Formats: sequence, C-alpha cells, structure tokens
Amino acid sequence: MNSKAAQDNRSEALVAESLSHIRIVLINTTHPGNIGATARAMKVMGLKSLHLVTPKLFPCAEATARASGADDLLQHAVVHNSLDAALAGCSLVLGTSARLRSLPMPQLDVRMAAERALAEGRPEASGAQDVAVLFGRERYGLTNDEMQRCNQLVHIDTNPEYGSLNLAQAVQVVAYELRMKAIGGAGVELTPPDWVPVDAGQMERLFVHLEETLLQIEFLNPDQPKRLMMRLRRLFNRARPDQNEINILRGILAASQRAAKKREH
Ligand code: SAH
Repeated sequence: MNSKAAQDNRSEALVAESLSHIRIVLINTTHPGNIGATARAMKVMGLKSLHLVTPKLFPCAEATARASGADDLLQHAVVHNSLDAALAGCSLVLGTSARLRSLPMPQLDVRMAAERALAEGRPEASGAQDVAVLFGRERYGLTNDEMQRCNQLVHIDTNPEYGSLNLAQAVQVVAYELRMKAIGGAGVELTPPDWVPVDAGQMERLFVHLEETLLQIEFLNPDQPKRLMMRLRRLFNRARPDQNEINILRGILAASQRAAKKREH
C-alpha cells in the first residue's frame, strides 16, 4: 500500500469512527431490493449499522444482488420484531418523512439533522448513546405512532408536487449528509491536498514581472498599462496559484523576455 492509500485508510477509519454511533433503521420494508440498495448506499458513505424491523422478506437473494458488494452490511444487519427493540440504547431518534405532516413535531432539514446526529456522538458528550434514523415503508412511510417515538422529523427538500423519494435513495441522501458532516466538509470547498496558494508578496512579484514582460513584448499600451493589469490581477487572484504554478508562470515570463531581447538584436 502506498503512503497516500495508507493515509486515506487512516482518515477513513476516523470517518467510520465518527459515524459508528449512527444506526439506520428500516421499518417493515416491503421490497428486499430496497434493503440491499440501502446497504450499498450506507457502505459507500462509511455507515455500517443497519437495523431492520419486521422486514417482509429477509435474507433474500434480491437484497444481496442489489447490495452489490455491500453484503457484509446485510450479514451484520440486526433484525428486530419490534421498533422498541431496534431503538434500545438510542438517545436521539430521527424520523424521516416524505410528507410535511400537520403533526406538531419539530422538523429538521436533512443537513441540520446530520449536524445534530454527529454532535450527539461527540466523545465529550456525557453518556452519549446511539442515534437512530428511521425510514418508513414504501407505501405509506412511518405511522403516527412511529413518528411519536421520534425526537425530530427529518425532511429532504424536494419538488413539493412530487416529494417522495425511493426508500434507498432517501437513505443515500441522509448518508451523504452524515458523511459530509463527519469529514467536516459540508459547505467547504474541496481542494487538492497538495495545493497551498502562495502569499500576497509572491503574487505582487508575479504582477510586477507580468507587467514588465507585457510592456517588453509590446502587448501593453505603455501609456495605459493599468487597465489590462487590473483584469489580469483579477484572473490570477481568482485562480490563487501555488508555488509550482507561480514557478511555471514566472518561467514563461522569463523565457518571453529572453526571446524579446533576442529579437531586438
Ligand atoms: N408514500 C410514503 C412515502 C414512502 S417513501 C409517504 O408519503 O409517506 C419511503 C421512505 O423513504 C419514507 O418513509 C421516508 O423514510 C423516506 N423518504 C422518502 N422521501 C423522503 C423525503 N423527501 N424526505 C425524507 N424522507 C423521505
């Protein structure tokens, strides 16, 4: 294993660790294919703990086929005959709902729900227990009784006229948001790991060198060089080059200056 892969595995272990207190609970699922697709949706995001309450059909070849490689999650899935049993040891229960019901229940957007779920698992949170995220059956979601077992309802924002996601796809969206929170990436621009933009002093030296070169090759109007320089500053400041890129740019400028000098002779 190269060191990059080793590093990736280490940070993945940290992500898995911060998601380990979260269990996905599917209630009374009708189609075994959805259970398999759920396992896949979870595994790609680093979630492991799958709990099934009275599934119609499980284990089942169709579930394994749809898990496509995430069958370890199916093997470890815990099957319960009541919701009570599935919620044992959970201090926070989030119920996902396709419909914004008239129930006077606090509702969270899925991103905020992910934040809540992750915050609950912080090691310093005293007596932290597990967090359950409940998903209802395909035909009619969660019953009112089941919703009343929840601390909060979670809704994935959708087209108001067509707002019901496929069960496993709803799990996918929730799992993705949980992962984003776990990697500290939500709302953060993901940049290449080796990219460190240079400081303002280096940028200034680039602009001086650029202006000097553009005058030398007669690209800039010597009476009015600043207008174009303003545009070029904007371009490079937007790109925020790193040291390697600055070296390339400065190299191009130096080569252009040499070529211009040669032409003069
Ligand atoms: N016809 C059902 C929808 C069931 S979809 C109903 O109207 O309630 C199966 C499950 O997927 C739901 O119980 C819920 O857990 C999840 N789900 C589907 N769409 C969702 C959405 N927009 N927000 C949150 N959960 C959703």
